[in-house]
Amino acid sequence: MNDRLTEYDAIIIGAGSIGIPSALAIAREGLKVLVLDKLPSPAQADNKHAIGGVRATHTERSKIWLCQRSIEIFSTWEEEYGDDIWWEQGGYCFVSYTGEHERMLKQNVKLQKSYGLNIDYVDKEKIKVLIPGINENGLLGGTYSPEDGNCSPLLSLHAFYRQARDYGAEYRFSEEVKKIIVDNGKISGIKTTEGEYHSSIVINAAGGNAKEIGKMVNVDLQVNPESHEAGITEPVKKFFNPMVVDIRPAQDPKFGNSKNYYFYQNKEGKIIFCVSPDPCIKGMDRRETSSFLPQIAKRMINLLPRLKNIKVRRTWRGLYPMTPDGNPILCKSKELEGLFLAVGMCGQGFMLGPAVGELMGRLVTEKLTIRDKEILEDLSYYRDFNREEVLK
Ligand SMILES: Cc1cc2nc3c(=O)[nH]c(=O)nc-3n(C[C@H](O)[C@H](O)[C@H](O)COP(=O)(O)OP(=O)(O)OC[C@H]3O[C@@H](n4cnc5c(N)ncnc54)[C@H](O)[C@@H]3O)c2cc1C
Repeated sequence: MNDRLTEYDAIIIGAGSIGIPSALAIAREGLKVLVLDKLPSPAQADNKHAIGGVRATHTERSKIWLCQRSIEIFSTWEEEYGDDIWWEQGGYCFVSYTGEHERMLKQNVKLQKSYGLNIDYVDKEKIKVLIPGINENGLLGGTYSPEDGNCSPLLSLHAFYRQARDYGAEYRFSEEVKKIIVDNGKISGIKTTEGEYHSSIVINAAGGNAKEIGKMVNVDLQVNPESHEAGITEPVKKFFNPMVVDIRPAQDPKFGNSKNYYFYQNKEGKIIFCVSPDPCIKGMDRRETSSFLPQIAKRMINLLPRLKNIKVRRTWRGLYPMTPDGNPILCKSKELEGLFLAVGMCGQGFMLGPAVGELMGRLVTEKLTIRDKEILEDLSYYRDFNREEVLK
């Protein structure tokens, strides 16, 4: 291949929840950008495993700000570009059944409101209207944030992918990145299983594989994947709108323990659900098990008894690329010129993606706003990882 064809302003490793929106933003800035992915088509790793929840209801200001922007992008995408990505502004409800959770959620609401979030702690009666048929036994109330929502991770990422291509972004699939080339302490390109590409800017957006990409240039990334499982039911007539989050941990001697679970009813009427196992399952294993379904089914039927006859159609397992504090790492490396990090998205990479993409666009083109600088300071690779996100 001749040099001009392999010369790029920026190369992104990973065509997932983060890499694709980053390519869109960078191509929109007029830069020549290449995205490399080892899988055969866009968004086929953990983006595909996300259930599609999108919320600005966090406790870290940087995640609140980023997801507020993502919500703007998701909610106006169809109007702006014409693709139906199944966006639904159904809100989020964190329900509370214990005094401890009620106090914690009320405390969070104060903070969330101070960042401009439209969220309230509502009483049991309001929760009963929002989630018809919810178990009233012990129900105290919960938070309701009506501007949060959900949409399809695959439809969304395919729409961003097409748009990025229209702006000139190039993609190469079925090419695994094997080496980052460094010359005189600066990044100069990438070697893949198929060839070599040159650029002075490389963005690590490799999701669950971010750590091994970091190792290629001796950058130790605290990104360690954990397995989470999810499932989807047959469609039934739509009867509730919000994403329901039950943060109670549960001990189950027969099926195993879980920390929390969450579910919503999508545009087609199917219930999509996801559970956080306790203890967490560390590692890269994406093979689903049969043990989580009875565990979460029992919990969901207890919370919403009318789900008891619904049939589950499919289950799957994917990875949350976790950091020690539950927050992503967004950064320009201080040690290695040309290396950018957009990794460690935990359980929120899909919802963070559109805004993180724009931020990476401004970071590589050096057009950061004051707000961007605050976000990057919070989410820096060089931060103290001891402060934990409460709602991670
Ligand atoms: C069950 C489940 C439910 C979830 N639900 C939600 C949700 O409701 N909302 C939400 O926001 N998030 C959710 N998530 C989390 C979300 O899926 C992840 O945070 C997100 O997909 C991570 O984005 P990413 O771009 O970092 O990684 P990915 O989307 O996995 O993209 C990384 C890409 O890098 C590629 N890659 C890796 N190594 C190489 C290499 N050496 N060479 C070339 N390419 C490489 C991979 O093939 C992949 O395509 C959920 C996750 C799971 C498992």
